[in-house]
Amino acid sequence: MGTKKLGSVGRFGTRYGRKLKDKVLDIEKIQKSKHTCPHCKKKGGVKRVASGIWYCKKCNTKFTGKAYKPE
Ligand SMILES: [Zn+2]
Repeated sequence: MGTKKLGSVGRFGTRYGRKLKDKVLDIEKIQKSKHTCPHCKKKGGVKRVASGIWYCKKCNTKFTGKAYKPE
């Protein structure tokens, strides 16, 4: 098994278990996916600024949410 197919989690190397890799991959998928703003309902306008902090560029609102999901 090469590291190419692992994508962004390849950098974690082999000392991490497969389960953790899957979990990290899931989190990164969620982080990179587009989220709908709970204020203006703009789809894909929400970006994660920090853990639990989200920003909507459409309505210029910063709000708190869950660590990996805005709602
Ligand atoms: Zn918004």
